[in-house]
Formats: sequence, C-alpha cells, structure tokens
Amino acid sequence: MVVVDGAMGEGGGQILRSALTLAAITGRPFRLYNIRARRSRPGLLRQHLAAVRAVRAITEAEVDGDVLGSSELVFRPQKVRGDRYEFDVGSAGSATLVLQTVLLPLLFAAEPSRVVCKGGTHNPAAPPFDFVVSVFLPVLRRMGASVTVTLQRYGFYPRGGGRLTAEIEPCSRWHSLSLTERGPVQAVLARAVVADLPPQIAHRELHVVRELLGWREQDLVTEVLPPGQGPGNVLLLSMESENVVEMTVGFGQRGVRAEEVAREACAAARRYLAANVPVGVHLADQLLLPLAFAKGRFRTLGLSGHTETNRLVIQQFLDCSIRFEVESADNVLVIVE
Ligand code: ATP
Repeated sequence: MVVVDGAMGEGGGQILRSALTLAAITGRPFRLYNIRARRSRPGLLRQHLAAVRAVRAITEAEVDGDVLGSSELVFRPQKVRGDRYEFDVGSAGSATLVLQTVLLPLLFAAEPSRVVCKGGTHNPAAPPFDFVVSVFLPVLRRMGASVTVTLQRYGFYPRGGGRLTAEIEPCSRWHSLSLTERGPVQAVLARAVVADLPPQIAHRELHVVRELLGWREQDLVTEVLPPGQGPGNVLLLSMESENVVEMTVGFGQRGVRAEEVAREACAAARRYLAANVPVGVHLADQLLLPLAFAKGRFRTLGLSGHTETNRLVIQQFLDCSIRFEVESADNVLVIVE
C-alpha cells in the first residue's frame, strides 16, 4: 500500500487527484492522510469527493473515508474499465478537475469511454474548459492520446450547472514528448465572455488588453452567452505559437473591477511572452502525470508548488526520474525518464 502524506509540498487537493489517477493506472492501493492539510478548510470538499467517486466508479474500487470533511482516505482500485459515465460535482465544484482525474486512467482502459461531467466549467483555481481543449489536449494528443471534449453548457462559480462531455479512445502507444522551444507567436485572441451580466464588463476588459498588450481590434472578441448560464464572466487570453498554445485567464468576481480582472490575466500573458518558453505554469503541472508514462521533456516558466508536489506524488507510485534543470527564474527544463 502506498502511503501518502497530504500535507507534503503544496498540501492541497492536487495530491489527492494525482494519487487517484496513479492508483487507477497502476492498480496500486493507497492510504492518504492529512488530506488538504495546508488549506483553510482542510479535508475532502464536495469537489474532491466527486473525484474520489469518479475514480471509484471507473475502477470499481473499495474505498474508506469518502465522506465530506474526511482527512483520511483508503483507496483500493481494480482494473480501469472504459464505459459511459456521468459525474455530477453538484455546486460549482470544478467539472474540469474531475475530468482531469479520470482522463488519464481511461486512456489506459481496453474500451473507449464517454464521460459527462457536470459542475463548474469556468471556476477560479481550476483549468477552464477552453484551457483543457486548446492548451492541454493538443499536447496530450502529441503523446498519442485520442480525446475530444465538448462544452454543452457553461458553469460559473458560484452557481455551477455546467456540462461537458469527453470522448476517450484507449491509447495503445505513448509517444515521448519534446516541447522545448516555443517558436514565434503566430496568433493571439482575447475572448471576454459574459453570462447574464452587462456586455460593458467585457468591453472594459478588452480595453485593458488593448492598452497593456497592444493586441489588435480584430483579436478582441466579446461573447454574450444566451440567458440562464450565469451570472459569470471570464477573460481568456490565448497565444498560439508554432509549437504550442498558452492561455491565461481572468475570472470576474463580485467586488473585483473588470479592469483588475483583465490586468491580472495580462500580467500572466506578459510574463509568458517575455520568457520565450513553450509551457506555462499550469500546463507544466498538468503535463507531469501523462509524461510519467509517455516520458520526454519540456521547457517551462518557473516551477509552481503544484508541479513540485506532483513530482513527489508520482515518485511514490512509479519508478521514474523527474529532473528540474533551472536555467533562470522563468526558464526551467523538466526531464522525465
Ligand atoms: P484545493 O486544495 O483547494 O483543491 P488544489 O491544490 O487542488 O486546491 P488548485 O490550486 O485548485 O489545486 O489547482 C488545481 C489545478 O488547476 C492545477 O492543476 C492547476 O494547474 C489548475 N489551474 C488552476 N488555475 C488555472 C488556470 N488559470 N488555467 C489552467 N489551469 C489552472
């Protein structure tokens, strides 16, 4: 049994999700204690529980401790089975993080899968649907995966109610990844999405993007969603280079000015563009798990706590070497062998 201390490194929910993913793929049972010990509300929240239940469903696992607030979990998986699944996080808990947790295991199944995830699709502190589709999946496909994800309905914090569907084919052979050069930026696009909120919010955000990043008018798009999917607002800044797409995000929040939301997303975009590396902060931590199986290397911005912590969790389940060669503050080569 792999024993994982949930307080190590970042000490958040990612440790749980990574352990679930790795257990499902390797078939190794684990005991996780100190769950989310470094968070202000430690233990399993609804969103984490949804991930536990999802991986339990795809592996017919035996589970102890899967209740709200639990600080300890024992998880004994069986073989992953591809099938049709539907997971509902309830509330606005992130549907994309639940998908992230089951996606990799289902690529290892013998059968194809169709997975519906309901909950938040555009929440702070989680990959928005657009990031999954435009940034993460293209890199995963280069490693050999065949996955499509579609959005049926937006779900914003705090109302939720979003829905996405993933079609996953078994991956018969992984290809090693080499993503070390970004190449020239070929296209940029700023999308300011509003749902049940005034379009002026989007206009103000795009004005800031124009001022701070100097993007052209034709690269700035306002999207007003049909009524009933909000309230919500997200600003998505996508940067497509020769070898990769990166997307930085600002989430509209009550009490935070639209200009401030846009400034944050612009600052992250600027940092990325200035560093001239292909992989951004979030993609880096998300690539580590598939890379543990596909192997390879990528160059990224400075390492986040999530990336460092994912390395610790992976090395508890797998015999693989993950090295970080720091060339400068925002240029790190990650090598997985
Ligand atoms: P908690 O303990 O509250 O569950 P956590 O430690 O699990 O938190 P988060 O900080 O919520 O983790 O991040 C979870 C995942 O979401 C990480 O893989 C991170 O890369 C991803 N993520 C967060 N923000 C973004 C973003 N703006 N774009 C893409 N991915 C993101």
